Amino acid sequence: MRAYNFCAGPAALPTAVLEKAQQELLDWQGKGLSIMEMSHRSKDYVAVAEKAEADLRELMNIPENYQVLFLQGGASLQFSAIPMNLLGKNSKADYIHTGIWSEKALKEAQRYGDINVIEAGTSIDGKLAIKNQSEWNLSQDAAYVHYAENETIGGIQFADIPDVNVPLVSDLSSSILSAPLDVSKFGLIYAGAQKNIGPAGLTIVIVRDDLLDQSRSDIPSILKYSAQAKNGSMVNTPATYAWYLSGLVFEWLLEQGGVDAIHQVNLEKAKLLYGYIDSSDFYNNPIAVPNRSIMNVPFTLADEALEKLFLQEAEENHLLNLAGHRSVGGMRASIYNAVPLEGVQALVNFMDTFVQKHG
Ligand code: PMP
Repeated sequence: MRAYNFCAGPAALPTAVLEKAQQELLDWQGKGLSIMEMSHRSKDYVAVAEKAEADLRELMNIPENYQVLFLQGGASLQFSAIPMNLLGKNSKADYIHTGIWSEKALKEAQRYGDINVIEAGTSIDGKLAIKNQSEWNLSQDAAYVHYAENETIGGIQFADIPDVNVPLVSDLSSSILSAPLDVSKFGLIYAGAQKNIGPAGLTIVIVRDDLLDQSRSDIPSILKYSAQAKNGSMVNTPATYAWYLSGLVFEWLLEQGGVDAIHQVNLEKAKLLYGYIDSSDFYNNPIAVPNRSIMNVPFTLADEALEKLFLQEAEENHLLNLAGHRSVGGMRASIYNAVPLEGVQALVNFMDTFVQKHG
């Protein structure tokens, strides 16, 4: 039996996708070998890679003047690759700080240039929120503005896309493909795959053509967006299996009706879980309503001493990985695209039974 998996990443994958991969594992489409054993430069593999890109372009409605790169090193390597590629001669960038991941990004960027940190966290009636853009002190001469659209650990998400007049760079690791997004508003989007895309080991970068050729000359070619774009993300051997499996996830998403359709389900899941938490005196979510993440829902129990028991009983009920990030504690339910509405319903039922028993 497959449990409901609320892990923040590597996260749940659609069962139908895993079944397809299982079916094709030993003998991919009658070729007598696994896709893992195939040259990344073979005609068959290149077709799989190109289909995955085409499907992602369709899902996100990515304009022609953007490159889609399938890279390695995680979102964390992009924390360095972005300033290396985009700072160019202008050595200044603005970084919006809203939590642990945007902080990690800005700390890496500080090695490469003059980083203006905008402290955008605030509190509304005791709940954490993101300050209005009118309160940000953006610089006049930044090469780009960087923000983390959804803070996976804090469970805090931007209500709107910032409106800036320099290239906008966004870490979408935990929110890509969860809701419609106007890609044309961005200079660059990046995301580690292991939440809403596929298995770990793959990182997607979507970058506008005019930003490709601004890199410092002394950076490794593997990190140069222009070199990766010219070589179809195959400057070296890519993460072939993760790329293939992500392609299966894109096909699955298209079958579900695309991003608009999955967004409706995501809204329903979030409404159900936050609605239950808000109706209870026992559970609490620390985020102000407009900035609540629809993907990562942190919550605490009224009695911290019950946390261990909560996790143990959840597991007995086939509800896995509900512990909060090790740096913050508490609980967190990550309800990515592959977690069905029934999974969230099962979680809410369990939470309610737990309060009745122990609250
Ligand atoms: N950014 C965000 C928003 C994340 O959630 C994570 C991983 N949880 C990262 C960056 C780092 O990703 P990776 O482990 O792929 O380097």
